[in-house]
Amino acid sequence: MTADKHASVGVLYTGGTFGMRPSARGYEPSTDLPARVDAALAGEDLPLINWLDPDAGPPVGSSDITPEFWYRLAATIRRNADNHDGFVIIHGTDTLAYTGAALSFLLAGLERPVVITGARAPLGEPGSDALDNFRGALAAATCRRHPEVTVAFNGLLLRANRSSKRYGTPQHLFSSPHWPALAAFDHNGLRWAADLHAPDWPTAPTASFRADARIVLLPAYPGMDAQTVRALLDTGADALILEGYPSGIGPGSDPDFVQALADADSAGVLLLGISQGQYGTVRMGQYATSTPLAEAGLLSGADLTREAALTKLHYLLCCDVDAATRKDLLRRSLCGELS
Ligand code: ASP
Repeated sequence: MTADKHASVGVLYTGGTFGMRPSARGYEPSTDLPARVDAALAGEDLPLINWLDPDAGPPVGSSDITPEFWYRLAATIRRNADNHDGFVIIHGTDTLAYTGAALSFLLAGLERPVVITGARAPLGEPGSDALDNFRGALAAATCRRHPEVTVAFNGLLLRANRSSKRYGTPQHLFSSPHWPALAAFDHNGLRWAADLHAPDWPTAPTASFRADARIVLLPAYPGMDAQTVRALLDTGADALILEGYPSGIGPGSDPDFVQALADADSAGVLLLGISQGQYGTVRMGQYATSTPLAEAGLLSGADLTREAALTKLHYLLCCDVDAATRKDLLRRSLCGELS
């Protein structure tokens, strides 16, 4: 399919390489991107593009993005949903997968496609992929039949809460190790995967941003000990993500380490184990080292990406639900983030 030219797409420019210009200090976001995109696409048969103020501050390099930004962006999209068939977000690639995953939780039930895209080289520079990615994103954003949050990049449309830049290649900046691409796009338009089903997910609770929601992320490494865990938790963390070894998870034979986790669990800290391997899935109990960790309260994040784990925890900490419900929702797939 090509982009439906009768559709109306809200476009939010948040920053990133897509709209950057070189400066003496390095690449910086420009503020005139909307006019430059409109000029570059003039005369093409495209949907109506309506530039919306993201209400999240001026365009930024995405390494400056904070969780509050996700909630502001989600609120802007919800406010404008009645007047648009879908949305495209232009975003820096460094934290694009975090914003995409966060929006998948915050915009559950929106019934509009929301497509997040960026570029490897700025619009106007030789070999820039900005317009190709943008056209693909527009085509996906006009397809009301498939209303979920996706990433459009380099000819592929990926489920946002399955995508990651961490394991991308110079050719394919984003990968989706645990879920196939939803569609492919090129200058002929967008082709959905043959066996794709429209999302049908249970209604997720709504969340309001909490500035004091704190999550710490700790990769497993030889030498990691209870002291480190306790020091991190002493920062007032509400949740800890242990990014464990691909199969053994962490030092489950170290009683102090296990006790540090058990104490955190008793104090109400959510403990979530994910895999640090690209294709890894946490299987608690597969190796005996992981069993004491599970007994101490470490929940299995199965095949959640780091980005989906962090944003899902943030979202759940911002939902007005009790601790048991929060744990239950963490174990279940809310919008396709878990197998
Ligand atoms: N540092 C840039 C950003 O994330 C990289 C990019 O957009 O590709 O904003």
